[in-house]
Amino acid sequence: HAKFSGRNKFSFFDVSMAQHALNKTEIVKHLRNSMGSDQFSIHYQPIVNLETGMIDKAESLLRWTHPELGYISPDEFIPIAEDIGLICELGDWVFRQSASQVKSWQEKFKENFQLSINISPKQFQNESCDLQEWTDFLSQKALSNKAVSLEITEGVMMNEGPMTEQRLGMLKLAGIEISLDDFGTGYSSLAYLKKLNVDYLKIDRTFIQNIHINHDDQAMCEAIVVMAHKLNIKVIAEGVENEAQLNFLKSVGCDYAQGYWFSKPVTSDDFELLLSENEAQLH
Ligand code: C2E
Ligand code: MG
Ligand code: MG
Ligand code: MG
Repeated sequence: HAKFSGRNKFSFFDVSMAQHALNKTEIVKHLRNSMGSDQFSIHYQPIVNLETGMIDKAESLLRWTHPELGYISPDEFIPIAEDIGLICELGDWVFRQSASQVKSWQEKFKENFQLSINISPKQFQNESCDLQEWTDFLSQKALSNKAVSLEITEGVMMNEGPMTEQRLGMLKLAGIEISLDDFGTGYSSLAYLKKLNVDYLKIDRTFIQNIHINHDDQAMCEAIVVMAHKLNIKVIAEGVENEAQLNFLKSVGCDYAQGYWFSKPVTSDDFELLLSENEAQLH
């Protein structure tokens, strides 16, 4: 094979392939063994109301630090958890954890505080994921169904079946809010936007990255905000990293923003400090 003719090329190719394969196998093994352990935690990233400057919401982001493998990004282990059938268990844990957390922050800070939880399309499709339990859990905690919103991607609609539709309908009916995550990066965004009846649209950070300098990105973001508002949908900008981006977003009437400019995702203790400081600004 021509591909393997050069000696250096061969070894380079071989090593990188082997490493990749080994990592995935290792992750699979460790993921199974780590389920239910304290290697998992949730970090929270503030979502700021651009009209008031207040932290009205936050996104729950799952973290996994393994004693040997170190930190593993959810972008890496979530797809594996989906493949090997662990996503229901993991997703349930994130939901319960977040619901308990939001209860405490509502009591301590503000009653309308909301946590936004990422949901994998597999959680909708897999019969053994029991989403009905979630609404039961909220009422057990005496939480309003508005205390959480669920972030879904267009992937939810890609393999759409009766299950997805029925479950989304059930959650919407219960009053749980739905955010369409990573908006603009998938296919047929506009068709899904109409069909899903979402409450929030999160503009993907690839569109925000150059928004302070790129006229095309500016035009698109402004158009997205106008369109969303006409459909009664609120807009959240993801990945805001500087003040120039923020100022542009404010100027076009974007409702909320999230990104390193405000804060990286942080532990619940650190998030509480952010909330206290933010509240103190009011007085
Ligand atoms: P996502 O839902 O789109 O989350 C936003 C990602 O952007 C997060 O990465 C966040 O840390 C990162 N981010 C936030 N602000 C900035 C910024 O200003 N600049 C840059 N460069 N990045 C920013 P993270 O935490 O690594 O999560 C990656 C993805 O993993 C998430 O993307 C989501 O799709 C998935 N994920 C995370 N937690 C969960 C979970 O509990 N369940 C499921 N199903 N998926 C999850
Ligand atoms: Mg998200
Ligand atoms: Mg996103
Ligand atoms: Mg994403």
